[in-house]
Amino acid sequence: MKIVMLGAPGAGKGTQAKKIAEEYGVPHISTGDIFRANIKNNTPLGQQAKIYMDKGELVPDELVVSLIMDRFDEPDCEKGYVLDGYPRTIPQAKALDKALEDNGEKLDYAIDVDVPDEVIIDRMSGRRACLNCGATYHIVNNPPKTESVCDACGNELVQRDDDKEETVKNRLDVYHDQTEPLKQYYADAGVLYTVDGTKEMEEVFKSICSIVE
Ligand code: ADP
Ligand code: AMP
Repeated sequence: MKIVMLGAPGAGKGTQAKKIAEEYGVPHISTGDIFRANIKNNTPLGQQAKIYMDKGELVPDELVVSLIMDRFDEPDCEKGYVLDGYPRTIPQAKALDKALEDNGEKLDYAIDVDVPDEVIIDRMSGRRACLNCGATYHIVNNPPKTESVCDACGNELVQRDDDKEETVKNRLDVYHDQTEPLKQYYADAGVLYTVDGTKEMEEVFKSICSIVE
């Protein structure tokens, strides 16, 4: 099972991707989480990515594509995967298609989590993230059991630097400009499915399961 999650930043891709990964036993691959882990560990990749992420811009395609291709080589990807935050540009989608084609495979579903911009602003300003395990919360919609503490691993929860208001606006512009055209790309390929991302998390998940099953 190979799934791509589409949608604006803050639409709920990560929240749903985690649930899909648990339900169907495939790895959840978030390029954003991989970059954040590299930033935390101060690796050369992290240092490069941070320059773009802090401004709400996309990390250049060459860097992202080589990172994701390396990740596909790991044994857990044999079962498939749910991609969260990749692809974000047409060249990235083409690189994915080529890698799949080279293995005689194809993408099964591109699931667009559709949420209007007004809701996105609230989702991102209320988001709190665990930089240790990648779990995501919302101070109102999905609070942790204990304030600022990750339910899953006990680490401290933080507001991501790129979830501050100024950066959020830029990320939305970048999304509409560079990532949204992927909807047409996957519609043309016959694998685009849209779910209403403004619904409750469990309801969104049910809609996704009914597509995948
Ligand atoms: P993305 O991965 O698309 O950037 P996230 O999954 O991190 O988005 O979700 C963004 C924020 O919105 C988080 O704080 C999350 O808890 C919250 N959220 C996700 N899905 C929903 C939903 N269906 N209803 C309300 N809040 C949600
Ligand atoms: P995310 O966690 O998916 O919201 O990603 C956070 C940031 O990481 C983005 O705003 C980009 O700067 C960078 N990033 C993550 N995935 C990609 C990608 N596929 N292409 C380019 N930049 C990315």
